[in-house]
This record gives sequence, structure tokens and C-alpha cells, in this order.
Amino acid sequence: MAIKGARSPFDRLRQHYEETMLRCPECGFVDEDGTWNATADRGELRYRHVCPRCDAVDTRVLSY
Ligand SMILES: [Zn+2]
Repeated sequence: MAIKGARSPFDRLRQHYEETMLRCPECGFVDEDGTWNATADRGELRYRHVCPRCDAVDTRVLSY
């Protein structure tokens, strides 16, 4: 990769999620300091985020 600072698609996708999808689907709280816990498993990315306000677990699965 010639692009300075380029990271893997996994990292870019993770960053995208962290920036845009930290709003809790249950209470609407935006966890600005939160992170998605991402794991890769045989062609799927599994994202998990726990709301610090109401403890709702938000899980998303992406295929790539
Ligand atoms: Zn919540």
C-alpha cells in the first residue's frame, strides 16, 4: 500500500462503526468514548457494543 496511514479493511470498517454507530438502540445514548468489540470469523465481522447507560447489547454481523 502506498497510501500513508493505510490500514486494513478490517480496521477501516471498525473505525467507521466506532464513529457512526455508537448510539444505543435502546435508550439513544451516544457512547462517544465507547468502542465496538470486533471479531472476525470465517467471512463475517461480528461487532458488539454494550451501552454504559442501560447495558443493552448491540450486535451487528457483516459479511465480507
Ligand atoms: Zn442504552
